[in-house]
Amino acid sequence: MRKINSRSFMILLMTLAFFAGLTYHTVNLVLHASQWVAEPTNSHLTDVDGLEFAGKIFDRNGVVLAQSIDKQRVYNDDEEIRRACLHIVGDNSVNIATAVQTVYRSELTKYNFTFGLGLPDILKKGNNMTLTIDTRLQRAALRALGDYKGAMLFYNYKTGEILCMVSTPTYDPQDVPEDIETNELYDGAYLNRALSASYPPGSTFKLVTAAAALKEVPGIENSTYDCHGADYVGDKQVTCYEANGIVDIKEALAQSCNIFFAKLAVALGKDKMTSYAEQMGFNSRWSFDGITTSSSRYDVTQADENELGWSGVGQYTVLETPVNMAIISAAIANGGTPVMPYFISTIDGKQKNKTTLGNRMMEKDIADKLYEMMDYTVYSNYGKSYVSEKLDVCAKTGTAEVSSDGLAHAWVTGFCKDEDCPIAFAAVVEYGNYAYSVAIPMVRQVLDTAADIYKKY
Ligand SMILES: [Zn+2]
Repeated sequence: MRKINSRSFMILLMTLAFFAGLTYHTVNLVLHASQWVAEPTNSHLTDVDGLEFAGKIFDRNGVVLAQSIDKQRVYNDDEEIRRACLHIVGDNSVNIATAVQTVYRSELTKYNFTFGLGLPDILKKGNNMTLTIDTRLQRAALRALGDYKGAMLFYNYKTGEILCMVSTPTYDPQDVPEDIETNELYDGAYLNRALSASYPPGSTFKLVTAAAALKEVPGIENSTYDCHGADYVGDKQVTCYEANGIVDIKEALAQSCNIFFAKLAVALGKDKMTSYAEQMGFNSRWSFDGITTSSSRYDVTQADENELGWSGVGQYTVLETPVNMAIISAAIANGGTPVMPYFISTIDGKQKNKTTLGNRMMEKDIADKLYEMMDYTVYSNYGKSYVSEKLDVCAKTGTAEVSSDGLAHAWVTGFCKDEDCPIAFAAVVEYGNYAYSVAIPMVRQVLDTAADIYKKY
């Protein structure tokens, strides 16, 4: 009797375990099947990894970026367009984590839960997808970046549509290089640097310090400083590229006086600097179109006074993503509140996004002052026609030193004042060294192309 009881108990236990396991796997299947099917380890997939019947992907003008013909994935017939759009469209694999062919593979392939991959071919037609990017700007940006590694992002700060987003190094998705994993030319080629890489922002970060100072430092607009090119901040010196002479905050931004902004960061203190940086997107990630960007970083908890000073000019340990930089410029152009960027227009003919406001980054009067200061920076320091012959651009550059032998990343961010070209942008050129002579001309090529397309004369 005792033996039977213990056997029944064992059977009961095993039955319970069986149903628990069954429930667990069923729930998992329902929740994750559409992701599993796109896993590269799925042996049921062919060399086109489940894209045999995937829908077409178009740019904003109906240019076909990718389509499936005879069970093969075929990309745009122009290699330059294929390379320029790689990080948004993706390739046959799912290596590019933020590309639409990775994130939206089940929508593109119209994965069917009941039939799995066993749906008859005739029913397998996938959903089409339209993106907001313009291949003409993509091409211009790819050519502008040339052999440099870096990223450029341009978006409409009124609607949120990303018109152009290019990351280099890139490769041809139609003919993936065999040595992609070993050749250093392709280092980080799977990464969309506009969204997933962060760099020391250098002087572009002065916009954050200026926003905090304009709000928090009494009499800041009437304060001046006589810059001799080097001065103590804490127990060590902060240096400028040259002696800037007597500068107020507007002139200090235009001439990019490090000492002026380093002293402001110290006057503001760690808490206020951190609070304003966080309001402007640091220490958190952006999410849109099913992707999450890398985080920009501002952490001065361990900084001494000199380091706090350097943090105010975007050095020390400060890191920023190009997308965050573009969103800050969009906020300044928009009276303090950014419109959130996105790059998917429609899936299966249905509108995927609508114009969405992000959290306010600064009060309107502060945004308006920064707007005017960035306008003056271009007017007095770079030259309006040097930045664009065709558009009225407000901007700020940054050259962020990243090694002791003086190598630096070159940044430029800003926005166009033109009503018919409301574009905010950020560009970073790895080891570009010179923001003025390297980064600005790259941005100009894209902006002038945008003017040719969108400007109403
Ligand atoms: Zn200076």
